[in-house]
Amino acid sequence: MSTHSDYLVIGAGISGAAAAAELADLGSVTLVEMEERPGYHSSGRSAALYTPNYGPPAVRAIIAASAEFYRDPMPGFADHPLLTPRQAMSFVPEGFEAKIDEAIAVATPATPLQEISPDQACKLAPLLRREVVARAVLDPHVMDMDAGAIHQGFLKLLKHRSGTTFTDHRIAGLERKDGLWRATTTSGAQFEAPIVVNAGGAWADEIGQMAGMRAIGLQPMRRTAIIIASDPVLAPATMPAVDDGSTESYVKLDAGRLMASLGDATPSPPCDAQPEDLDMAMIVDWLEQRTHLTVKRIEHSWAGLRSFVADHCPVVGFDRGGDGFFWLAGQGGYGIMLAAALGRLSRDLIARDAVPADLAARGLTPGSLAPERCRL
Ligand SMILES: Cc1cc2nc3c(=O)[nH]c(=O)nc-3n(C[C@H](O)[C@H](O)[C@H](O)COP(=O)(O)OP(=O)(O)OC[C@H]3O[C@@H](n4cnc5c(N)ncnc54)[C@H](O)[C@@H]3O)c2cc1C
Repeated sequence: MSTHSDYLVIGAGISGAAAAAELADLGSVTLVEMEERPGYHSSGRSAALYTPNYGPPAVRAIIAASAEFYRDPMPGFADHPLLTPRQAMSFVPEGFEAKIDEAIAVATPATPLQEISPDQACKLAPLLRREVVARAVLDPHVMDMDAGAIHQGFLKLLKHRSGTTFTDHRIAGLERKDGLWRATTTSGAQFEAPIVVNAGGAWADEIGQMAGMRAIGLQPMRRTAIIIASDPVLAPATMPAVDDGSTESYVKLDAGRLMASLGDATPSPPCDAQPEDLDMAMIVDWLEQRTHLTVKRIEHSWAGLRSFVADHCPVVGFDRGGDGFFWLAGQGGYGIMLAAALGRLSRDLIARDAVPADLAARGLTPGSLAPERCRL
């Protein structure tokens, strides 16, 4: 089998799906995924929170631009709201009070945090043990995101614009010949296009190396989460997501249950990340120390990879070392939030070497996220 298109996008996670849908407005697009279904890796394993005060300034600017789309997507993209109010609350135990001042100081002016009293914190999140809350702060701007609906919305839009998605095709070789990239899969299929978009998530550096590009220094980091039964008294439906500013651990409602994580970041090779027993035991220990919950049974657990380059900003742009090789990688712990705006940014950088006007107004330039910066 050999398929020719104007754009070949590798990786059907949320980043690849969003970029493919945008590029399908310009020409023919093939989206290739090695797993049986899109979203098997990081995009299907997130906490699904919209947290505008998270990450370096460039990331926050892109998050804000994406939110405009998620709040008001085009007709037919999704049949229900993609963002719904949630709020998040950060508390610290004694000895860590200064962390609250730091959080307030680094919040973006458009999305300020509000300090609340320990008693208010425990009223909003009755599961918290009062004695562990020395100070607390509320982020009223945090929302629940329907990550699955956003991902499906981009895949649907790609299809609507005549793009094609191939699953179960692992790209194992990439070669540039006669002005075209030729990708070969492990099953012997071939995909050709003048422009390749590398949206391979944790595998992006491996894909770059296949094409002869210099590495961008991508480091996947494993994070583990567990799902346990909730309790409507300790965790009412209106409870904000709760995080422990002294440890990065957090707990949040998840479709009537509770999701909890240590907020761990353990370096990992690109892989099908699996939860480790020790990490799960530590999450249970944190929950039992900080909250009134008793964990009788872990209903479900998973681990996912968050992939970063050194400055924790995504890598978006053509590689200087290869004709038509475009990077869309390093989305870290914010890839769901970033996807809509990075899809548009990819399209405009590819089509006209320019940044969409709204992103330019937020301070982004064509070079801001360029791969070269990772190699300095
Ligand atoms: C525990 C956890 C919590 C998170 N919470 C949030 C959150 O609350 N909010 C938020 O915005 N983000 C969150 N994230 C981050 C977010 O999930 C990621 O940034 C995002 O999913 C990255 O998307 P992606 O498309 O780049 O990667 P992926 O979803 O991993 O997609 C990459 C795809 O490329 C495919 N691929 C790789 N190599 C090949 C190949 N050779 N051939 C074909 N296909 C290939 C893979 O199979 C994969 O499907 C969280 C992540 C984790 C792990």
